[in-house]
Amino acid sequence: MYEEKAECGHLTQLLSQLGESLDQFLAFDHPDAMSTIRHWKPVLGGDLPMEGSGIDAVLQTMCQHLIPNGSQIPNPGSTAFITTGATSVAALATLSGAVAAPQRIGLTAFNFLEQHSLNWLKQLFSLNPEMKGIYSSGGSVANLIGLGAARQWCFEKIGIDVSLTGVQKPCRIYASETSHRTIHRACAVLGLGRQSVVPIPVDDLGRISIEALRKQIEMDKKSDLLLMAIVGNAGSTDAGAIDSIEELADIAQNHDIWLHIDGAYGLPGILDPAKEAFYQGIERADSVTVDPHKWLGAPVGIGATFVRNYELLQRSFTQEAAHYLEGSFSSDSSQAQHSMDSPGIPYSDLGVELSAPSRGAVVWAIISEIGKKGLQDRICRHNAMATQLAERVKQEPKLELCLEPMLSIVCFRYVGHLQSKNNEEINQLNKRIHRQLVRNGLAMPSTTMVNDKLVIRPCFLGARTTWQHADELFKEVLTIGDELTRED
Ligand SMILES: *Cc1c(COP(=O)(O)O)cnc(C)c1O
Repeated sequence: MYEEKAECGHLTQLLSQLGESLDQFLAFDHPDAMSTIRHWKPVLGGDLPMEGSGIDAVLQTMCQHLIPNGSQIPNPGSTAFITTGATSVAALATLSGAVAAPQRIGLTAFNFLEQHSLNWLKQLFSLNPEMKGIYSSGGSVANLIGLGAARQWCFEKIGIDVSLTGVQKPCRIYASETSHRTIHRACAVLGLGRQSVVPIPVDDLGRISIEALRKQIEMDKKSDLLLMAIVGNAGSTDAGAIDSIEELADIAQNHDIWLHIDGAYGLPGILDPAKEAFYQGIERADSVTVDPHKWLGAPVGIGATFVRNYELLQRSFTQEAAHYLEGSFSSDSSQAQHSMDSPGIPYSDLGVELSAPSRGAVVWAIISEIGKKGLQDRICRHNAMATQLAERVKQEPKLELCLEPMLSIVCFRYVGHLQSKNNEEINQLNKRIHRQLVRNGLAMPSTTMVNDKLVIRPCFLGARTTWQHADELFKEVLTIGDELTRED
């Protein structure tokens, strides 16, 4: 009676079928999902099935209609936003976790790698050895965790356990005007309000103005506000700018303010000897975030926060005692003889997720496959591609470089013979060039605004993205720009 209908094994054969279809997808010789929508939508969008069709039929539909109509993001020519597809080893480790260690609970090999890989990341990026880390779903939650620790710390200084009683006083968080919007949202979620984030202007490389920050802090010191945190960018989202971390650390130290560094995208840039000096002072930060699902090529869903005072995380994010958490484990983990004798590190009380996948095994697999050297090669390649593209743009009179790249993001635009035209017309033209680029499907960057200029903005990030793709982008922008202006 009530027999189980789901297949729960037979992975050997199923995976070989799936693998073939995924390899075919990665060749990117299929049409874009929108051009085939009338074929796949009716197949996938059927009525709620009363009887299932069985795993073979589902897998066949996946291989025929789902996978081939996936995303352009893993396409080597895609340089939009700051996102890419997983490398093979990262995808395999993710699947392994889903099957063999579906939770980060217990004294398992997967859970061992949770902490071990965080320590590898700490070493890899020259963070303060005192720091300890925790994984979460990505930069958004990683920033929330870092700022949650900052909030706890700053209220404890005035004798308030803020995670227990709630926010009792208005706070100030200082971040450059180009800081990621997840900083503002984290402040909203933490009850501080988005308004508590004070936008500080940036200099001509996109870095926070130290002078303006000093002035703002001096002014706020005279008020009754709690000066909570300075958020520095180690790779801003639109331009890849790295704030002067050493100077931020000096200011934070002088005024007893928490220093949080958002390195979701750019922290791995420290591996490039040509960029290393930009990160000076990183070991002085109180919290640092990085997204393994960006430059390291993990599948989306892996961010990391590092803090120097780990106990603060416990006090910030404790769920306190709960019946359903009591008694299932023996209390002394040093006496453990079985993987279920102890939950291991209580990550569920150090962040905002209880159920969570094994992410450490993925990061461990990525680093194990190619080592520090392999990651370094990828990061140096992408930074050098950005530098080279910027040089070519500067030498081409029809193009304008709008910001010197600090990492692997380039902001430039087509001006052609339009220099005499107004900025709005040039913006419209570049919008059209960008649309055409994406539709051609060879080079797919995104856009951003730099000083009222709409710029074409590639971010070289993916393991599959290499010199040829930067070259194709350069040529395509010129060709499309020439074509569109000829029509004018
Ligand atoms: C990508 C990014 C984030 C947000 O990270 P998600 O993983 O998308 O949640 C935050 N800060 C910076 C600087 C980023 O580049």
